[in-house]
Amino acid sequence: MPNGCPCYLIGTIRQHLSNFGENPRGGGSVMSLDRAMLRRESYDTAQQFLSVSDPSLARFPRPTKALAFYWGFRVVELPRSVAHLDHGMIIGHRIIVARERRFWERQLTIAHELGHFALKAFNDQQEEECSAFGSALLVPFEDLDDSLRFFLGSGPYSIGALAWSEAETGVVSRLVHHYAVGYKALIWAIGDYGLLQGVPEWHGGDSIDSLMVEYRSAWEQARKRFETSAD
Ligand SMILES: [Zn+2]
Repeated sequence: MPNGCPCYLIGTIRQHLSNFGENPRGGGSVMSLDRAMLRRESYDTAQQFLSVSDPSLARFPRPTKALAFYWGFRVVELPRSVAHLDHGMIIGHRIIVARERRFWERQLTIAHELGHFALKAFNDQQEEECSAFGSALLVPFEDLDDSLRFFLGSGPYSIGALAWSEAETGVVSRLVHHYAVGYKALIWAIGDYGLLQGVPEWHGGDSIDSLMVEYRSAWEQARKRFETSAD
């Protein structure tokens, strides 16, 4: 078992990916097919993990502490200064989580740490797989696809369509609350599942920063437009 796990979903995958080619969208980098396959496999493992857990734990948002408990882990929240940790770590049958982190960050951290256990991934090269596992555990494809379809019709969607729909119906915020994840993690997952125009399947994180800039800008425009039309 590792004595520490320096990363979690959002912060570090970009670093892991920095050696892979140019992104057609203009930001970040492109994963190799191998990495896309790893994310896909991590997704499958997360769904299997859930399917062999107690059925009552498959609700939303995922009860990560109860899931951890089911598999014999105790989640302990400690101040960062005491535990010398950034987000979290797994030590024996304890998952240590930084108390100062926000709820949705702690959710993702616990899910990531469960990935270390489920994937038997205990070396530094496997952080990305554990993060993909965490994402898949919290935001599964079928449920996300159904929700987006309900509000937006069938995908893939443009970033603009997501932003405008958010301004009009609050769909993105609803999903963020439904899954208890951050906006970035949600849009990343939408991209990974091949539901974002111009983003190849399992490559949602490649250009996540530029996607977020695009999203915020479109949302700001849409919000202003709706405000103006309400006057
Ligand atoms: Zn880790």
